[in-house]
Amino acid sequence: MTGRFPSVTVIGHPLVQHKLTLLRDRDTSTAGFRRLAREIGLLMCYEVTRDLKLHMIEVETPLEPMQAPQLAGKKLCFVPILRAGNGILDGMLEAVPAARVGHIGLYREPHTLVPVEYYLKLPDDIHDRLVIVLDPMLATGHSAAAGVARLKEAGASQIRVVCLIAAPEGLASFTGEHPDVPVFTAAIDRCLDEQGYIRPGLGDAGDRLYGTK
Ligand code: URA
Repeated sequence: MTGRFPSVTVIGHPLVQHKLTLLRDRDTSTAGFRRLAREIGLLMCYEVTRDLKLHMIEVETPLEPMQAPQLAGKKLCFVPILRAGNGILDGMLEAVPAARVGHIGLYREPHTLVPVEYYLKLPDDIHDRLVIVLDPMLATGHSAAAGVARLKEAGASQIRVVCLIAAPEGLASFTGEHPDVPVFTAAIDRCLDEQGYIRPGLGDAGDRLYGTK
């Protein structure tokens, strides 16, 4: 939790911080960026699922039966916001291979930075699942807020957001709109610039993931 944003957790784990620094480096290759995003996704999944409920089941070891813990409730649902969200999805799925995956396609209208939805596909029983939205760069916060609003409309009631880097402006706007939704980020950077980039940030996450610039 941070003082200014009570619903926001900064994941200060040294491995996450180290890998994020490599991710920011302009000289990191497309392949390196993809690998690091996947690795950070896996590590952040560990933190965002830390308080999941367990129940006891009977299991037989080769030596004797015992009561052992198992995750309770329905499988998680990851929802990457396309396209950069896919960069952390693979790591999340390595940690929770049975999770369901929904997709939200949103692009930022270049002049207004307002998110426009072009794709939505979610599991039917989204209301029964813990939904983890993946949006690597929480810049204005508008895409994450629009994605979460869409999930709430679809019936989701337990929602968390994971991002790599957040701008203070985006966090203020997102947490103002969705104070009930916890946000997990690896860093809160200095500010948002006039083009809507997070500074110092890491540039355009989608372009760096897919080598499109
Ligand atoms: N999206 C990005 O990929 N990078 C930013 O800095 C802001 C939004």
